[in-house]
Amino acid sequence: MISVKTPVPAGTDSAQLVTELQKHYNITLGRFECEQIPSYLLLALSLTVRDRLIERWRETRLQEIQNNPKRVFYLSLEFLLGRTLSNAVMNLQTENEVAEALRYYGTSLEELRQNELDAGLGNGGLGRLAACFLDSCATLGLPVTGYGIRYEYGMFHQRIEQGRQVEYPDHWLREGNPWELERPELTKRVKFYGHTEFYINDRGRKCARWSGTNDVLAVPYDVPIPGYGNGVVNTLRLWRAAATDEFDLEEFNAGDYTEAVAAKNRAEQITMVLYPNDASENGKELRLRQQYFLASASLQDVLADWVHFHGENFGEFANKHVFQLNDTHPTLAVAELMRLLLDDYLLEWDVAWRITTSTMAYTNHTLLPEALEKWPVRLMRELLPRLLDIIYEINARFLAEVALRWPGDTQRQQRMSLIEEGNDPHVRMAYLGIVGSFSVNGVAALHSNLLKRGLFKDFFELWPEKFNNKTNGVTPRRWLAHSNRKLAELITEAVGDGWQTDLEKISHLKDFVNDSAFCERWFQIKQHNKAALAELVHRECGVCFDTGHMFDVQVKRIHEYKRQLLNVLHIIHLYDRIKRGDAVKMKPRCVLIGGKAAPGYAMAKLIIKLINNVAAVINADTSVKHLLQVVFLPNYRVSSMEIICPGTDLSEQISTAGKEASGTGNMKFMMNGAVTIGTYDGANIEILEAAGGENFFLFGLRVEDIPAYRAAHKPNQIIEHDEDLKRVMQLLECGHFSLFEPGIFDPIVAAIRRDDDPWMVAADFRSYVEAQRKAAEMYQDRAAWTRMSILNAAASGRFSSDRTIREYARDIWQII
Ligand SMILES: *Cc1c(COP(=O)(O)O)cnc(C)c1O
Repeated sequence: MISVKTPVPAGTDSAQLVTELQKHYNITLGRFECEQIPSYLLLALSLTVRDRLIERWRETRLQEIQNNPKRVFYLSLEFLLGRTLSNAVMNLQTENEVAEALRYYGTSLEELRQNELDAGLGNGGLGRLAACFLDSCATLGLPVTGYGIRYEYGMFHQRIEQGRQVEYPDHWLREGNPWELERPELTKRVKFYGHTEFYINDRGRKCARWSGTNDVLAVPYDVPIPGYGNGVVNTLRLWRAAATDEFDLEEFNAGDYTEAVAAKNRAEQITMVLYPNDASENGKELRLRQQYFLASASLQDVLADWVHFHGENFGEFANKHVFQLNDTHPTLAVAELMRLLLDDYLLEWDVAWRITTSTMAYTNHTLLPEALEKWPVRLMRELLPRLLDIIYEINARFLAEVALRWPGDTQRQQRMSLIEEGNDPHVRMAYLGIVGSFSVNGVAALHSNLLKRGLFKDFFELWPEKFNNKTNGVTPRRWLAHSNRKLAELITEAVGDGWQTDLEKISHLKDFVNDSAFCERWFQIKQHNKAALAELVHRECGVCFDTGHMFDVQVKRIHEYKRQLLNVLHIIHLYDRIKRGDAVKMKPRCVLIGGKAAPGYAMAKLIIKLINNVAAVINADTSVKHLLQVVFLPNYRVSSMEIICPGTDLSEQISTAGKEASGTGNMKFMMNGAVTIGTYDGANIEILEAAGGENFFLFGLRVEDIPAYRAAHKPNQIIEHDEDLKRVMQLLECGHFSLFEPGIFDPIVAAIRRDDDPWMVAADFRSYVEAQRKAAEMYQDRAAWTRMSILNAAASGRFSSDRTIREYARDIWQII
C-alpha cells in the first residue's frame, strides 16, 4: 500500500488536512513520513479528525453553560461503540476531503479503518442501544451526557478452536486511544467498606456520615460524541478506578511495599474488565463494586457541577436534571443520590426523596428471571453499609405506603418489598429502580405490556402512571448511511437527501417497487454487499459462499432463548433431505451464524460446538454444497455487523415468544433490506406491522398460547409424530455430528426432549420449517423478493433511534 503521491491542490480543505496529518505524524507521534506505518497513519488521521471535533466540543459545552437547559444523564455499565474514526468523519461531513488527503498517501479511509480496534465496552443489544442513543441525542442537539466505565479489557475476543469457543482478552487500549481526553482535575472519591456514624449537627439535627472507608479514585475520560452534520459534540464520560495516594502512603510507611502495590491493584481492578454476561447475573462482588463506582462517581460529578454554578441550593435541581438508568445495573444511583443529598448536603429526607424520585427514570431490558439482579444483603452491609441503611429506610417508608393502600395485605407487602427475605436476604434491584423513579419503561410494546401484566404487576397497580413504552431503535447513520454506502446513495437518489436524520422519509421507497430499473439496481447493490460478506466469510472461515444463493443470517449473543438451536435443527433437516434424495424442490442457501457465549454458560458453548460440527460435516460433503453451506463466523462484534447486515437476505429473529424484550439486530437488518423470518416477539411484532404480513415470514407460538401449550408440552410425542424432526434427532443421537466425540451433544438432545423445555424448541420446529420453505421459494422469484426487500427498508422509518430518543425527550425527560 501507500506512497504513490498525487498532489493535492493547495488552499483546499484537503490540503490543510494533509498539513495537519503530517504534523501529527511527524511531530505529535514523532515518526518519519517515509516509513508510513499504517497504524501510525491511522493514529495521525484520528488526531487530525479529533482536533476538528474538539473545537465543536468546547462550543457545545459553552452553549450548554450559557443556556442552562434541563440536562439528561444516561447511566449505563455498557457502551458498545465499535469503531469511531469513519463514523466521526461521516458526522463531520468531511469524507471527500479526507478521501482526497488520503489519496496523497496512496491509501483510503476504507483501508485505514481496518486497523482500528472496536471499542467493545458492552455485551450486545443493551450496550449497543446506549451507543445508538448517544448518536441520536447528539444529532438531535439534546443536552445528554453518557456516564459509563472505561474498562481496560472490553468484550473478550472469541476464537474457535476445534469447534469450541475460546476467549482471549481484548486489550483495546494497547495502541493508544485517540478518542478520549483524560480529565484528572475532575477526579472523584468513591467510598467502600467502613460504617455509618451518627452525629448531631450545629442545628441540633441528627445526621449520618459514612466513616472508616477504603476509598477509590474515579478518574474521568471524556469521549466526544459528534452529531450528524450539526456541529454538536456531546460527551460520554467514562470512569477509570485508581488507588488513592494515602493508601500507598500508609502501606509504604508501614514498610510493606508489596502490600501497597497489591492494594493499589485491588483498587484498580474495579475497572479492569467488562463482565461478559448478557441477560444473566452471576452475583460477583466485583460487579457490585463496578455498579456503585459508576453511580457514585457520576452523581458526585453532576452535584459538583450544580454546586459550582448554583451553590448548595437544590430548589431547582429536579427541574434541571434527569438520570436515565439503563437496566438495573446503575440503580444504586437511587440510594446514592439520597446519600449525597442527606449526608453531604444535609437535606431533609423528604426533600431529598422528592428530588430523587423526580430525577430518576428506569429502563427495564428483560423478563428473564436469571437476569434480574439481586444483591445479598450481607455483601451490601460489608461493602456499602451506608447505602444499605438508606435502602432499608426507603423500603420501610415504601411498605408503609403499600400498607396504607392495601391494609392487611401482608403477602403483597412481602411480594413488593425491596428485600427478598429468607436465610440469605437479597436486595431486589429492579424494585429499587421502580420505587425510586418517576418513569419505568420497557423497550418494545409487547415487552412493556408484559411488564405491566406480569413481572411488575403489583407496582403497576400502585403507580400506573409511571409505566410507559419506548420501542428501541438504531441509528440510521452507522447502520445504513455508513455501513451500506451504495444503498445509501440509491436511497438518496430516490427519496432525496435528509433521510439520514428523518428516516420516515425512507417510506417513499415504496413508490419505486414497480420501477424495474430501480429494482434491478437495488438487487445489484445487494449482490455487491453479499460479495463483501462472502469475502469476510472466506477470510474468517475458509468457506466460499455463492452469492447467487440466499444468505440466511443469525448473529447475536448465543443464548437458549434466542434459539440458535432451532436454526441448527433446520439446517440438519435440510442436510438430511439432501442426503435422503428429497432435494428436488429444495432451494439453495448459505447459512451464517455468529455470536459470543458467556464464558460460564455451558449450554450456549455447546451450541456453538454443535453449529461448528454440523458446518464441518456439511461443508466437507461435496454432494451437499450446491444446496447448503454453513459457517460459524467467529468474534461477532459491531464492526463485523457493519458488513453482515448489508449482505443479508434473510434475517433470523426466532426467540421463544415473550423472551426477547425488543431486539435491535432485527432493525439493522430491516433497514438494509433483509426480510425477517421471526416469531411474534419483541419488536418483531412492530416490524411485522410496519412491513406488512406479506413481507415477513412469521411462525411459531404466541405468548398468549404458551402457558396452555407448555402445560401439555410433550416434545417426545412431537418428535414421534414428525418424521423430519425424528430423523434430525436420530442424526444427533447416533453421533453423526460427533463421530470422534461420542455423546458430547447428549445435553442438547436431552434439553430438546424435556417436557419442561423453557424454550419450546420442538414445539416451534414444524412451523419454522414451513416458514423457511416459503422464504426459500420466494427467494427464487427475484422480482418478488426484491420488492419485499425494498418494502422492508421503506417501512424501517420507525426504527430509527432518533424516533426513540424523541419519545424519551418528550415523554420522560420533558426537554422538547
Ligand atoms: C445490534 C447488535 C446486537 C443486538 O442484536 P440482537 O439481535 O438484537 O440481540 C448485539 N451485538 C452487536 C455487535 C450488535 O451490533
